[in-house]
Amino acid sequence: MPCQLPTIVHLDADAFFVAVEQALNPSLLGKKVAVGGRVRGIIASASYEARACGVYTPMPTNQALRVCPDLVLVDHGDGMRRYSEFSRKLFAMCEAVTPVVERRSIDEGFMDVTLCGFADVDSLVGAMRGLQARIREELGLPVSFGLATNKLVSAIASKQQKPFGFTVVLPREERAFLAPLPVNVLPGVGKKTEVLLKANGIVRVEDLFGQTDSKLAALFGRDWRQMLAGAQGEDESLVGTVHEGAKSFSRQETFSEDCRDFQQVLRVAKGMLDELMSRVRVEGKRVRTLTVKVRYPGMQDDVAGRSLAEASDLEASFYVLLENLLQLAWRRRSTPVRLVMVKLSGMEDPDEQLELFPQQRDDDERQRRLAAAVDALNARPHGALVRRGHQVLWAEDRRKSTL
Ligand SMILES: [Mg+2]
Repeated sequence: MPCQLPTIVHLDADAFFVAVEQALNPSLLGKKVAVGGRVRGIIASASYEARACGVYTPMPTNQALRVCPDLVLVDHGDGMRRYSEFSRKLFAMCEAVTPVVERRSIDEGFMDVTLCGFADVDSLVGAMRGLQARIREELGLPVSFGLATNKLVSAIASKQQKPFGFTVVLPREERAFLAPLPVNVLPGVGKKTEVLLKANGIVRVEDLFGQTDSKLAALFGRDWRQMLAGAQGEDESLVGTVHEGAKSFSRQETFSEDCRDFQQVLRVAKGMLDELMSRVRVEGKRVRTLTVKVRYPGMQDDVAGRSLAEASDLEASFYVLLENLLQLAWRRRSTPVRLVMVKLSGMEDPDEQLELFPQQRDDDERQRRLAAAVDALNARPHGALVRRGHQVLWAEDRRKSTL
């Protein structure tokens, strides 16, 4: 019987935007460098040398220049194109090892190497260290790796020894690995929850283990069992694949309580559309077709889909269509919705496109520059920094439903 191996790998590039700039301009290596906007801008990425000087992300550029006067500031300009290209190369190197690769953001993703046939931990670790070294050699990017038996633990592991870290959590050691770490390493523990937990004497992951069920339920709401399972290092989610060859991008969200509120469902759908569109931009593609599916409590589905005249990589191009499609899809309006799914398909390369509406091009270019700036900020390790109105409300809906 094959022994169990830590075959789920999380990799996370270190100071990604800065590392790309350094790879393109080696004179920046070893310096206090940050990528960010100069005029009323925000630091999107800082080298470890700059961090040692007190620069962090997101920090207003003015403030960064005050705490670190010799900071070398690189304006990302149209950097998304450069960053996307490095991202593509990085994931292509992963896909040469296993086809099961999930990109979580421009510089972060999971690999499942279960089917690669590694005989033991040593050969698996050797192969992943080899990949880490090749990425640094060929792309000039330092990347931290976490190896574990599941996604949750590997994603926490990769953060432990940055930069150029390599952390292995062996099977059955997940709980012991997590126990001494600060509780905010767990997904779902944000700033607010952290404060609440601290007020209840819970600082480290292990502090959750001694709590009663009712205390945990009071702290985490209906998700408390999942939170406790995570704290113990359990996670059964699979590494999904969304890659260049993929024909579509989709996301779905199940409501914690069946939902009757059209505006609330629309906000969730818009939030998912935004996230999918930022992946479309990372791939350097455009999409033409939007499909919306709703699922009712009895598990019946209704679907509606339609295509734009011209493919786009801007979420705003799809907002009106999204609302119309949700109206169409949710045809049993007296029945609440359990789940909503948004799918983008009909992928095109920008240069394949016929220009049907040239007068719209300038407008789109402006929006694209804005979108690129938003993507750059949202690609931060601690998640989205820039939120549109519906995303803020969506987060609020979620918070309410878990309290
Ligand atoms: Mg990173």
